Amino acid sequence: MERRFRFARTVLCVWLLVMAAVLSALTGCAGKYETMQLTREETAGSEPETAASEETAALSLEDADGIRAAEQAAVADLSALESDVTTSNGFEDRNETVQIAEDRVNLREDCGTQCGIVAQVDQGTSLQRTGYAGEWSRVVYEGRTCYVKSEFLTEAPQSGEEAAGADAAARPAVSNGRIVAIDAGHQAKGNSEKEPIGPGSSTMKAKVASGTQGVSTGLAEYELTLSVSKKLQRILEERGYEVVMIRESNDVNISNAERAEIANESGASVFVRVHANSVESAGVSGTLSMCQTSSNPYNGDLHAQSYSLSQKITDAVCAATGFQNRGVQETDTMSGINWCRIPVCIIEMGFMSNPEEDQKMAQDEYQELIAGGIANGIDAYFAGN
Ligand SMILES: [Zn+2]
Repeated sequence: MERRFRFARTVLCVWLLVMAAVLSALTGCAGKYETMQLTREETAGSEPETAASEETAALSLEDADGIRAAEQAAVADLSALESDVTTSNGFEDRNETVQIAEDRVNLREDCGTQCGIVAQVDQGTSLQRTGYAGEWSRVVYEGRTCYVKSEFLTEAPQSGEEAAGADAAARPAVSNGRIVAIDAGHQAKGNSEKEPIGPGSSTMKAKVASGTQGVSTGLAEYELTLSVSKKLQRILEERGYEVVMIRESNDVNISNAERAEIANESGASVFVRVHANSVESAGVSGTLSMCQTSSNPYNGDLHAQSYSLSQKITDAVCAATGFQNRGVQETDTMSGINWCRIPVCIIEMGFMSNPEEDQKMAQDEYQELIAGGIANGIDAYFAGN
């Protein structure tokens, strides 16, 4: 009897060890013990934080101890491990924006402080929560699913704009009945043939130029303007506008007068021309806009509306990007303005001749800010009319 009992106990022990190994492999993270920085997750509820360098130095040792302890615990308490594993599958579905409540919070590959760190995020970072399982939440960060302790999350404050954004994403925008024409300035190849600077004028000017390019990035103005214009189109459509795009590719041949005529005929009530600036001096930076003077012989009657549109767009872009506000410049030398029969604004987003501004404008996130700013300016223009 005793022998058989011992044998049975040995079998059971071996079985438990095998199961523990299988289950720890199933959690998908047990092997990924990285040399990680000590963060909120580890310090919360324990001793106060010390200087970061000390934390890092003390870490690998602590980790090694933690791993050993975890392994022992796994073998000692199989049922506890099992319940931990069910947790990573037992998420209630959520679809809500949450914010990180403290600095240096770990986002992990799976549930468990032993799991690999995907990223560390600071207080105020917004995330989409897709699942909730008590201690842990499943979130999406930069397109990647990861896990974070629920105690470090708070519900994001629903500002009006965010709430509207969430609504817009959930259902198609309701038309606001307004049409906006957008011209992404320039094109891949300029056209040096001449056209009258305004209707009936004998003053001639090249039809269209290829534009400037980034002094630091080498990015072509025509590429930048199209990229921002497409973002602006998306944002405006989300807000209920109908958008007429003068061009949607770089390989076109449309003169500045023709662009204005397309806008005139489109039914649009305003025409926004997206450009970037360039000057000799690399030190000059900031956003400005252009419209006609009140004495423009072709469309001076549109000056007040064009000026208002230009001012509101410039102010809103600068509010969104922090770029210096260089105001509205009035000029009657632009064919693309002179041929307009609707209020028009050339927005010069920033200076591609300024290395810093060139770098910023080449970034997707700045382009979003600029496009959002232009859209806010258009909103403000219509709100004031
Ligand atoms: Zn330009």
